[in-house]
Order: sequence, then C-alpha cells, then structure tokens
Amino acid sequence: MTYDALEMALNDWQILFAEWGEQKFRAAQVCQWIYAKKAFTWQEMTNLSKALRDKLHDNIAMNFPIMIRQQVSRDGTRKYLWHLNDGARVESVLLNHGGHKTACISSQAGCPLGCVFCETGANGFKRDLTRGEILGQFLMMEKINGADINNIVFMGMGEPLLNEGNVFSAIRSLNDKNMRNLGARHITISTSGIAPGIEDLADFEIPIRLSLSLHAPNDELRSKLMPVNRRYPLQSLVAALKRYHDRTGERITVEYALIDRVNDSPEYAYETAALLDGLEPYINIIPFNPIPSKPELKRSSQGRIKAFCAALTEMKIEHELRKERGSDIMAACGQLAGASA
Ligand code: SAH
Ligand code: SF4
Repeated sequence: MTYDALEMALNDWQILFAEWGEQKFRAAQVCQWIYAKKAFTWQEMTNLSKALRDKLHDNIAMNFPIMIRQQVSRDGTRKYLWHLNDGARVESVLLNHGGHKTACISSQAGCPLGCVFCETGANGFKRDLTRGEILGQFLMMEKINGADINNIVFMGMGEPLLNEGNVFSAIRSLNDKNMRNLGARHITISTSGIAPGIEDLADFEIPIRLSLSLHAPNDELRSKLMPVNRRYPLQSLVAALKRYHDRTGERITVEYALIDRVNDSPEYAYETAALLDGLEPYINIIPFNPIPSKPELKRSSQGRIKAFCAALTEMKIEHELRKERGSDIMAACGQLAGASA
C-alpha cells in the first residue's frame, strides 16, 4: 500500500486525486465518508464509481486502532484499550454526561515526563502517536457507540505538546468542515507545561482550549512532583500562558489534583491565586486518584479539600470540585497505563 487513509490531510487527498485525474470534489467526498459517516471500507462509498473504489482499495490502507478491550464503569464511563500497528497499546476514555459525550484521547504511547503522581508516567515512554492513530481513537469510539462525540480532550496518555506536529494535524482534520467539522471550542489540549508549545498554541489558527496541569504553585514543590518543571519553570510557564491569554482572549483552565499533605494546604491555594493573577483562570480541583505504583500517595480528606477550596473562594478564584469518573475501571485522570492485563 502506498498510502494510509487517516494519515492524509484534506490537502493530501486533493493532490492525490489531481494526480489520478479525478475531480477535486471527490477528495471532500471521500473524507466525508470516513470522518462524518464512518465508512471504514471503500466499497461502502456508493457515490464513487466502482473503478475508483477499486483503485482506492488497491492503493490506500484503512488502518484503524484495533479494540482489544472495552470496560464500562458504574457511572457509564467507558475505557478502550487499542492495539496499534506496531503492537503498541494505548487507552482512550469516553465520558457521558447529561447526553453529552467527551472523548479523552492519547497522544503518545506512554509518557516521557514521569510526573510522580501519574500511572502513565510510571510506565515509561514508547513513542509518539501518528495523526492517524490519534484520529483513529476518536473515530473508532464514534463508530462503536453509533453516535457523534461532542468534545475531544487530549487528556489521555502522553504529553500532546511534545507531539505537536501530529496533534495539530489531527486537530485540523477534526475541525475541517469537509472532514469531521468539530468546533474549535469543543477541542481541548491539556499540558503539563511545555512553554514553547503553549506559545505555538497562541499562534495556532484554530482557537482551541487550553488546560494546564499545575498541581503546585512554586518551583520547589512543582519540580519534585513534575520533573518537566525544571526545564520550564513557573516564570516561563506563566509568561507563555499570558501570551496565549492575550492573543486568544481565552480563559485558561487549570487542573490541580489534591494529594494528602503534599500540595493541599490552604497556603498553596493562596500561592496559586497570586501566581495566576491576571490570567482569569478557572481551576478544576481533582481529588487525587490513587495509583498502584505509588501507594504512599493518598487522596486528601474532605476537610482538607474544603479548606483548600475555601481559600480559593476567599481569593475570588473561580473553581469547581471535579466529580470523579471511571475510577472503578482505572479510567480516571492519571490512571491510564495501556497495560494488557
Ligand atoms: N500530559 C498532559 C495530558 C494528560 S492529562 C498533562 O499532564 O496535562 C491527565 C491529567 O490527569 C493531567 O491533568 C494530570 O496532571 C492529571 N493526573 C495525573 N495523575 C493523576 C492522578 N493520579 N490523580 C488525579 N489527576 C492526575
Ligand atoms: Fe505525562 Fe501528563 Fe502523566 Fe505527567 S501527568 S506523566 S505529563 S501524562
């Protein structure tokens, strides 16, 4: 096979069809079959001639992640384990809330950043995912569930801004009117704080949303919890966030997982408010999800969570205590390992 369907952007289709002497609109037609109608075989594309379908069949592979396990949580959250072409395995999560569906997608097989509280980080790094492997997770979940998914968040395995080229390319296709036509405001990248990547996002032509995994408001504690902070300390991170905020006018969501007696005292809430002053952040407080590799890390008590939130309220920082989802099947934030067990 010369080509792989999901690895091709709209422009690649147009160039190929021009080479084949096909009309230009055929490119959009094929993309609509794949991205909107979820036709994953050429023969289903009934408004193309038999000759063109055969030519596509002979030249272009339809590689999709192969589902090897689906788990359903008590709260309706679904977790999928995928097998990729080279044997790598990644997980995705589908959240269901009030009729709205959100896909939580992986951008890398594993993660090289090793945050101490994250199971993905504890299992090492294998490789970046291709744009097709990123899109494939989303399209397969729509196909399996027979329904459109309303939102995509890059909060699965891996650091999306370390695989920027493929992630941005996948987002362009999700957003393209001739492909999946998913609105920019329904797409979110979550980052551990890759400052240059945040700068690139400020200049990205599609105004998607940004979520920052903060978890500690000073360099000393943050570098202990998230080694990436040594490379991009808070000062450079806040400068990049300010630029993103100024250029896009978007509010930034901040994730803060409360780990018992590690980062959950009210002093840290005051420090967080001071650090993010002027950025109009919206903070998601996540009760820490226990992970097998770090039994010593515990979730904060209700009392400590309340005290932390009260300090944020006092500082007039908008925040929400995130409801935990999917933890009974290890599908909650930070619990994805891509394991085969
Ligand atoms: N690498 C990116 C994208 C992964 S998103 C990032 O770190 O932002 C996964 C989210 O879950 C991040 O906000 C991460 O900080 C958070 N997380 C990781 N481990 C967690 C845990 N054990 N409990 C709660 N949240 C966790
Ligand atoms: Fe990687 Fe994000 Fe997990 Fe850190 S929290 S190890 S950056 S996936």
